Amino acid sequence: MTNGSSDKSSGGWSRLPGRRSLLGVVGCVGLLGLNRLLVDGPDRFPPGPGGGVNPAAGGTGGSAPAGDVNRMRPFAGGAGPQTPRGAVPVREAARLTLPADGTRRIALTFDDGPHPDWTPGILEILRRHRAPATFFVIGENVRAHPDLLRAVAADGHLIANHSWSHPRLDHLSRTRVREELGRTCDLLAETLGGPPGWARAPYGAWHRPSLEVCAELGMEPLGWSIDTEDWTRPGSSAISGTVLDGAHPGGIVLAHDGGGDRSQSVAALDHYLPRLVDRGWTMVRPV
Ligand SMILES: [Zn+2]
Repeated sequence: MTNGSSDKSSGGWSRLPGRRSLLGVVGCVGLLGLNRLLVDGPDRFPPGPGGGVNPAAGGTGGSAPAGDVNRMRPFAGGAGPQTPRGAVPVREAARLTLPADGTRRIALTFDDGPHPDWTPGILEILRRHRAPATFFVIGENVRAHPDLLRAVAADGHLIANHSWSHPRLDHLSRTRVREELGRTCDLLAETLGGPPGWARAPYGAWHRPSLEVCAELGMEPLGWSIDTEDWTRPGSSAISGTVLDGAHPGGIVLAHDGGGDRSQSVAALDHYLPRLVDRGWTMVRPV
């Protein structure tokens, strides 16, 4: 709704049998206390050249602008919150950009994974360029590939909630929305040691009840401002061009590591990421 275009990528992915089986859905809220007890592990990589250091809230100094700048915070061993936060107010809509501070900061986000065919390639490219990203994962895929999710987290990327089975949340009852988001929260907490602090509705389609549930589960809703439309497979050069031409301070790039053949998305990242770095852009995670 709030985004001009949609995260339509689900057209190509199949729903697993049993998706409607109801587990006891325990919200994330009860886990937030545990989350706060967890401490960040040592940084996997030192800050890259030119990359500011900005320890997260409660960290030790640093003068870079807000943003988890090129600072890889692994969640290996279950140690490390996704984003510790307290009570989250109900938002009117998902945030489409990072807080603007005029600096060349940009967030890369990948939806619909983890997927064994595409996620590892994206991780390798991000690692090579010391670039943190955010992965909005689908619960069904996490259940199928928990070790792959742990590998993503271990590289210091932010893991966020993209529902359990990728429905339009705004077409669901409040109870079903809570199942979709809460079940994924529970699995992420179980797999990573802490619940997610961010969520993205499939297709960006939030409505008031889903925004309320999102807040109740302790998550902030996040949209995007630069849509690569990679799910249409326009060619890797077109995807790369969309990112390079659309880059703006505080921008949030939407791409995909699941939901279909994402070879173009991987190839495009390999092209645009080093060019973003060369042009002075710093990749950040939302904070
Ligand atoms: Zn999606």
